[in-house]
Amino acid sequence: MKRYDHRLPFAVLLLATCTGGGTFCGLAQGADAPPPTQPVPVAPATPETPPFGPSNPFFAPSTLPFQAPPFDRIKDEDFQPAIEAGIAADLAEMRAIADDPAPPTFANTFVAMEMSGRLLTRALRTFRAVTGANTDPVLQQAEATLAPELAAHRDAIYLNPKLFARVAAVYQKRRSLNLDPESLRLVEQTYLEFVHAGANLTAEDKAKLSEINKEQSKLSNTFSTRLLAATKNAAFRTDNQDSLAGLSPAQLAAAGEAAKGRGVAGYVIPLQNTTQQPVLASLTARSSRETIFKNSWDRAEHGDANDTRDTIARIAQLRAQRAALLGFPNYAAWELQDQMAKTPEAALKFMSDLVPLATAKALSEQQELQAAVDADHAGFTLAAWDWELYAEKVRQQKYDLDQAQVKPYFELGNVLENGVFYAAHELYGISFKERHDIPVYQPDVRVFEVTDTNGKPLALFYCDYFKRDNKNGGAWMSNLVGGSKLLDTLPVVYNVANFQKPAAGEPALISFEDVTTMFHEFGHALHGMFADTVYPSLAGAQTPRDFVEFPSQFNEHWALYPQVFKHYAHHYQTGAPMPDALVAKIKRAKNFGEGYGLTETLAAAELDMQWHTLPASAPLQNPDDFEKQALANVHMDLAAVPPRYRSSYFAHIWGNGYAAGYYAYLWTQMLDDDAYQWFDDHGGLTRANGERFRRMILSRGNTEDLEKLYIAWRGKPPTVEAMMKYRELKPAPGAVTH
Ligand SMILES: [Zn+2]
Repeated sequence: MKRYDHRLPFAVLLLATCTGGGTFCGLAQGADAPPPTQPVPVAPATPETPPFGPSNPFFAPSTLPFQAPPFDRIKDEDFQPAIEAGIAADLAEMRAIADDPAPPTFANTFVAMEMSGRLLTRALRTFRAVTGANTDPVLQQAEATLAPELAAHRDAIYLNPKLFARVAAVYQKRRSLNLDPESLRLVEQTYLEFVHAGANLTAEDKAKLSEINKEQSKLSNTFSTRLLAATKNAAFRTDNQDSLAGLSPAQLAAAGEAAKGRGVAGYVIPLQNTTQQPVLASLTARSSRETIFKNSWDRAEHGDANDTRDTIARIAQLRAQRAALLGFPNYAAWELQDQMAKTPEAALKFMSDLVPLATAKALSEQQELQAAVDADHAGFTLAAWDWELYAEKVRQQKYDLDQAQVKPYFELGNVLENGVFYAAHELYGISFKERHDIPVYQPDVRVFEVTDTNGKPLALFYCDYFKRDNKNGGAWMSNLVGGSKLLDTLPVVYNVANFQKPAAGEPALISFEDVTTMFHEFGHALHGMFADTVYPSLAGAQTPRDFVEFPSQFNEHWALYPQVFKHYAHHYQTGAPMPDALVAKIKRAKNFGEGYGLTETLAAAELDMQWHTLPASAPLQNPDDFEKQALANVHMDLAAVPPRYRSSYFAHIWGNGYAAGYYAYLWTQMLDDDAYQWFDDHGGLTRANGERFRRMILSRGNTEDLEKLYIAWRGKPPTVEAMMKYRELKPAPGAVTH
C-alpha cells in the first residue's frame, strides 16, 4: 500500500457488485485520488479560508477519551483550514528530515516520518468520515479544493530526491542495523513505495515517466467520460408497455420517471455498469431481454465518439511502457510487488486452479435453468440474456425465501449486540458498552467502548447503519484514530452502512444480506481495533488489496454459525428462535448462483490480468480480438456466462485504480474459506482459536510479509480446497485441481 494510507483515511467500500451470496468490497484508496506519480497541478490558495488558530477544534489533539473527534465543536468551515495547515506542517517536517545535516539513521528518517503529519491525520480522517457519511455543499466544496492539494502534497514527498536518498541509504544497510522485524518491515515497505512511485529513476527517465503518466491520466479520464456517455446512450427505450411485461408496478413507474428525466416519451431502462442488468430477472419478453443485453455488451463499441476501444488499447500499452521504465517485465509485475500474491504468475496460477471448478458449477446451473426453460415449453436454448430470469424462477421454486418471514428475526440492535458483538466476545474475549457521552456527527450514530480481556480499554467503535440522502452508497469501515504504540494512540474505528431506517418508534428489521454486511464490516473493524503495532503506517486494515478483504469475509462465516445464529436470530416480538425450516432455507439459498457469479468475476479478472501482463514490446492491441483470444486461452469463452465486465467498459481497471487487481476479490475469498477451514478443523468458535487468530493475523496489520504471516498461522499456503467445499464447487470429470 502507499505510504500515505495512514493519512488518507482508508475507507473500505462495499461495492454494489455482489456475486452469488458473497459481499464484495473495494478500497476507496485510488478511487478518490490519482496515484502519487501522476502530476497534478497545485491549486491556488483560497483566500476565503479562515485563518487557522487555537479556536479551530483540530488545533490541538482531542482531549476526549481515545482522542475521539470533538464533533460537538467541529463546524464544516473548520476542516479546510485545518487540513491546509496540516499539509504545510507535514511538508515542513518532511523538509526538516530531508535537510537534516546528521547522517541518515532509522530514527531520524523513518521514525521521524512516522511521527510527522499529526495535524493532517486527525483533520483528514475526520473529514473523510463526514464527507463519506454525512456530506453537504460546504464539505463537497472543500473536498474539490483539497483533492489536488493533497495529491500535490504526496508528490512533494515521494519525488523529493533528498528525502529518497536518506530512505535509500538506510535501506541499503538495513541488515546491519539490528532492527526488530517490524522496523525492518517499515524500512522495506517505505523504500518500496518510493521506488514504486519512480523515486530512483534518473532525471531523464523521471521526465519520460511523467510524460507517460500525463498521457495515461488523460486517457483514463477520456475513458471514464466516454463510458459514462456510452452507458447513458445505450439505455433501452420503448413506447410499448408490452415489451416491458414482467416488471413490477414500481419498476415500471421508475422506467416512466427515467424517460421523463430524459425528456422523452414512453419508458427508459438505464444500464448498470455490469454486463448483466438487474431488470433481466423480471422481463418476460425475450426480445426485450436480448436487446437490453446487447445494448449493454456493445455499449462502448459503436465506432462513434464514445467508443473506448482505442483508448484502452493505448492505456494498456502505456502501462507496459511505464513498467519497463521502472524495470519490470509488465504492468502487473510492477503493481503486484507489494501485494500478498507478489507476482502475476501466482495470481494467474490461482485463477487457473479455479477456472474448471467455477465453469463446471456454472454449466451445471445452466442445465438446471435449461430444464426450467423446457418445463415452460419456451422452445429455446438458454442464452446470456435469459439467465437472470430463469435463475430467479428457479430460486423462487427451490428456496422460496420470503423476506417478510425472515426479517422479524433480525432486529438490527439485537443482531449487533447478540450476534456481531457476541461472536467477537466468544472468539476474542472482548466486551462492549455503549457510551452516550461521546459526541457524534449525526444522531443515528452509536458509540461503544470496547474492553479487552484484561479489562483495559481497547478501542472505540462507532456505527452508522441507516441510509441517508447525504451518505455514499454501500458499506465501509475506516479509522478516526489509528492505533499506534509510537504515537500512544488506541484505535477509534467506524462502520457505515445503508440499511433502511424504520419509521419513528418502529423496530429496524433487516434482511439476512444486511446481517452479513454487518458481520463483514465488523471483520474490518476488528482488524482495525486489534492493531498491536508500533508504526502507524503498518497498522490495522492498512494491508494490500488482496489481503484486506480477508478478515471481513472471514468474519461473515460466524453469522450462520449455529451457536451464534441461535443467540441472535429471535423474533423481535415473541423472542422465539427462528424455526429450523427457515434457517435451512437461508443456508440452502446461500450458494445459489455461485457458479455464475464466480465464473463471470473470474472471466473479468482473467481479462484484467492478461491485459496487464502484455510486455512493452507488444503492438497496440485490437480489443475485440484480444478479449476473444484471452478468454479462449483460459477456457472461459462460455456464451451463456460472459465476463462481469467486458474490456471496453471495465471501469475498475481503466478508470478506477484496480488495474491488475481485480483478482483480489477472489483471492481473499480463497483466504477466508481456507481460514475458516482451520477453525472448522480445530473446534470452531473457541477462545483459544480466536486468541491465536487475533495474535497471529488480526493484530499484525502489515508488519510482516503477508504470505509468511498467513502461512505461520495456517501451517500451509492457502489453497482453493476449502473454497470448493464451502461454495459447493466440484471439478468437472478429468479436471486437475490442487
Ligand atoms: Zn470489505
